[in-house]
Amino acid sequence: MSQKIAILGAGESGVGTAILAQKKGFDVFLSDNGKIKEKYASVLLHHGIAYEEGMHSTDKILDAVEIIKSPGIPDVVPIVQKAVAVGIPVISELEFAARYTRAKKICITGSNGKTTTTLLTYHILKNAGLNAGLAGNVGKSFAQQVAENDFDWYVLEISSFQLDNMFDFKAEIAVLTNITPDHLDRYEHQFSRYIDSKFRITRNQTSNDAFICNLDDEVTAAEISRRQIAATVYPFSYSMQPGTCAFVNKNELTVNIYNDPFTMTLEELALQGRHNIYNSMAASIASRLTEIRKETIKQSLSDFENVEHRLEYVARIHGIDFINDSKATNVNSTWFALESIEKPVIWIAGGVDKGNDYSKLFELVAAKVKALICLGTDNTPIIEAFADKVGAIYETQSAEQAVLMAYSIGKIDDVVLLSPACASFDLFENYEDRGNQFKKAVRGL
Ligand code: ADP
Repeated sequence: MSQKIAILGAGESGVGTAILAQKKGFDVFLSDNGKIKEKYASVLLHHGIAYEEGMHSTDKILDAVEIIKSPGIPDVVPIVQKAVAVGIPVISELEFAARYTRAKKICITGSNGKTTTTLLTYHILKNAGLNAGLAGNVGKSFAQQVAENDFDWYVLEISSFQLDNMFDFKAEIAVLTNITPDHLDRYEHQFSRYIDSKFRITRNQTSNDAFICNLDDEVTAAEISRRQIAATVYPFSYSMQPGTCAFVNKNELTVNIYNDPFTMTLEELALQGRHNIYNSMAASIASRLTEIRKETIKQSLSDFENVEHRLEYVARIHGIDFINDSKATNVNSTWFALESIEKPVIWIAGGVDKGNDYSKLFELVAAKVKALICLGTDNTPIIEAFADKVGAIYETQSAEQAVLMAYSIGKIDDVVLLSPACASFDLFENYEDRGNQFKKAVRGL
């Protein structure tokens, strides 16, 4: 009889895992205690995979040899606790799927910049003609791709939740973009536990593997001097320091791998803003390590199309620029958005505040923001934080109201920036919905 695998959570990750597990000959049972989306239920039916929704039946789960948990499910839920108590291994999709591919993996994690760096790296690999797949938090799940494709390379966007239940998985090339407090609710509000989780990306690496990281990120810099990292470390920084493989000098980016550097002016980069220069550095180092030609990397860094909702330029209307950075759901990403803008800013912010410490923004806001337009159900925390930092503060309850307000107070050469530093689900379905409504309102002006 075949061995049983139980999968918790029927989203992209869980359903992809079910397809792979079935293909590998396991008896698969998938359980979701919520409602399963129509599109996933029909995939399960199509494959004849047994599943349940609206509950977790202990007897059908705890007879599995292994449980694969979707990243959205915290460890504290009772069914996971029960599995752990009876000694059934609970692993992540990454851990499971990696057993069935010989492809090399470029694995990108960090608090901010994962999606951008992942897509940029993938773009470079594709331009170079590599047989590469894109997976993780973006696009199709890694597990499903392993089931259906035979790639030589994967570019994987990996959240800390995916790392938490990985044990033998190894990243041949790991990228850590940065570490700032986020999702601490899943880590007992201990920043150190979140940091440990991010550093699991280096687990099982040897000196033949690469660890690419940002030396300007204070937490990363402190951790790499404190930890034993077996991989070869490829650090990057805005400034040239001993050992940095990528840095900026005057107006020029240098990437130096194998003692064979290439340079580009910052204007030539498709992605603008300091944070994006970091993302370009990380993607360049990763792809250089796959031995892609320098010219291909340079070309790709300049013809990459920006990712929607991330400092996305929307339109210039009567001399006012509108920028959609709806994906900025924490303070750090908003810091980089404000930092990248040189003109007076009308800042649209707010939403669901995850206990934000806004003090990191005070200096930039005082210097650049002429008006703050709050876009959230409860704007008290953000108003209290900025009351004495900004000349004018307004409250709005829809993207359209916010855009109209911004337009009415805007002057030639102002920038209207939607960069909320907060989650979106008080007024919107998700950050995409927030960004789309913002763009629609701008285009309707
Ligand atoms: P993630 O996938 O980690 O959430 P994204 O690439 O989707 O990252 O970007 C999320 C937000 O963070 C956007 O507002 C973007 O402009 C900003 N951002 C992108 N790269 C960085 C970076 N390296 N450092 C800080 N903020 C960044």
